[in-house]
Amino acid sequence: MASLRCPCGTNFRTETDDELVEQVQEHLAEAHPGRTYSRDDILMLAAMS
Ligand SMILES: [Zn+2]
Repeated sequence: MASLRCPCGTNFRTETDDELVEQVQEHLAEAHPGRTYSRDDILMLAAMS
């Protein structure tokens, strides 16, 4: 189980790290154009949340 809370308040919760990375990157592209995070960045944020 992996989860992450975007600073904008959107929550993500997925079964696997891979799905989390995919969902967060899609969200960033749609809601926060110009902001990109690498897989490592996303997993680091997820580990802190
Ligand atoms: Zn967001």
